[in-house]
Amino acid sequence: METILIVEDEPDIGELIRFHVDQEGHPAQVVQSGLSAWEKINQDPPRLVILDLMLPDLDGLEICRRMKRHDHTRDIPVMIVSAKGEEADIVVGLELGADDYVTKPFSPKVLMARMRNLLRRTSGAVTPIAPDHNKISIADGSFVIDLDRHHITVGGKPVEFTRSEFDILHCLVSKPGFVRTRDQIIASVHGESAVLTSRTVDVHITAIRRKLGEFGGLIRTVRGVGYRVEETIQNDAE
Ligand code: CA
Repeated sequence: METILIVEDEPDIGELIRFHVDQEGHPAQVVQSGLSAWEKINQDPPRLVILDLMLPDLDGLEICRRMKRHDHTRDIPVMIVSAKGEEADIVVGLELGADDYVTKPFSPKVLMARMRNLLRRTSGAVTPIAPDHNKISIADGSFVIDLDRHHITVGGKPVEFTRSEFDILHCLVSKPGFVRTRDQIIASVHGESAVLTSRTVDVHITAIRRKLGEFGGLIRTVRGVGYRVEETIQNDAE
């Protein structure tokens, strides 16, 4: 159950990831084909799957699709590791329910940091971001969303957001640190202005950033994929 399953058909890359996962103190296993991955996931559900997309027999997206379709595999976190040119596939993967992704060539340090983050968030021992379940606090309270009252404070001051902006921000902050695709954002918006397009999402994000003022930079554009809200204020770009 605590095993990290690495699905990677290139032996060198699989071994590299296995080495680093091992260094992190997690038992790791590498499988090199989609079918063997699917078999393994069913026999002995791993703690997390690090998933390449281009694989012999069953591709990574199909594995993801199957995992999310079955109760016993649905909650297993999935980290996609894929070539940079496969951004469209990454978007599909995230929409199928993958939790995060790293593009190849990757820095093992970054991959392990993302893995730790994902393990922490899915450990069941995660404490809510704010003690009050109906409030989400980002970057040490730089902005706080009160879900019950539909109320947002920025730097301690209340700021007016439209219904769509509120929904979009809620979608992003409900998974801080993780990218949400434009379609996931669109799906999260309710109400009269539910007819959103990718372009209107971008327009809303611009407006939200402006309203967040000095904290607007916490909403990062993930090129070709979507948007992500940072958990903490940081100056380093990836
Ligand atoms: Ca591959």
